[in-house]
Amino acid sequence: MSEATIIDGKAIAADLRKKVGEAAAKLKSQHGITPGLAVILVGEDPASQVYVRNKGRQTVKAGMQSFEHRLPEETGEADLIALITVLNGNDEVHGILVQLPLPGHIREDRIIEAIDPMKDVDGFHPINVGRLAAGQAVLKPCTPLGCIILAKTVNPDLAGLNAVVVGRSNIVGKPVAQLLLDENATVTIAHSKTRDLALLTKTADILVAAVGRPEMIKGDWVKPGATVIDVGINRIDDGSERGRLVGDVDFDAARKIAGAITPVPGGVGPMTIACLLRNSLIAACIQANIDIPEI
Ligand code: NDP
Repeated sequence: MSEATIIDGKAIAADLRKKVGEAAAKLKSQHGITPGLAVILVGEDPASQVYVRNKGRQTVKAGMQSFEHRLPEETGEADLIALITVLNGNDEVHGILVQLPLPGHIREDRIIEAIDPMKDVDGFHPINVGRLAAGQAVLKPCTPLGCIILAKTVNPDLAGLNAVVVGRSNIVGKPVAQLLLDENATVTIAHSKTRDLALLTKTADILVAAVGRPEMIKGDWVKPGATVIDVGINRIDDGSERGRLVGDVDFDAARKIAGAITPVPGGVGPMTIACLLRNSLIAACIQANIDIPEI
């Protein structure tokens, strides 16, 4: 049996970043606007520090302005909201992202609600969540949007396909299901209480795994020829110092059955920042009342 096409998220993300960079250059030359993205990091979480550094680097590479705010772990909710309020009023800042997770003493929902919905480039503000549910989203959540872009590289028309999303978190599972519905797929959302999960996943033409359990989805859970989008990022102990990154899907087994599959790393992961830059550009256009370019 032939092996699945490996969906090269790294290359697709690089292409998207390039297109965003070109659109940003045009925005600057035609309208004098440089999109600006502010990222706020509270505390010292090492993984978050890497993400924030990468986001800043890619933002600048795309010709946009990057504003970084690193706050100490003990920062209070009121101080964080005060900073967000200042950024909401800063015309050079078109997108605001608060790196999650936040320290336990800060209520994430309060913080997300403090962001101006027009600057909410993560798409997590209740207004943007509502717009997404109504099929009217402009700022779509980054990782879910990345999943759709990757799936469409293999299936440009998702209409009528059976899609199964494993996971129902607010940041991945639910929004990816909504975006699939917008694409006219027939969508089922599975979670920890789902019965006969393997039977269900076997019905999926498009299978999205967003669980956070290393290699939980086995090869024989996959429908022959299906497109598998693996969102999971799990570090497992392989005896080396840093361990090894694996997805939620048993990649080596699934690639023998699937028609196409995303690898981990190098699949969905790189799409998140690329979609964040895209949202920052879109946010700048919305705020300046300029038509959003096709990217
Ligand atoms: P959450 O822990 O918030 O959600 C996990 C979901 O999986 C829950 O809905 C849970 O069900 C479900 N689940 C857990 N166990 C099972 C099971 N045995 N069978 C079926 N469903 C199960 O995770 P996230 O959505 O935040 O993240 C998922 C994965 O994606 C993680 O590995 C994370 O690291 C990765 N990720 C990657 C990103 C990127 O590529 N840039 C961005 C964000 C996340 P229930 O609701 O019933 O508890």
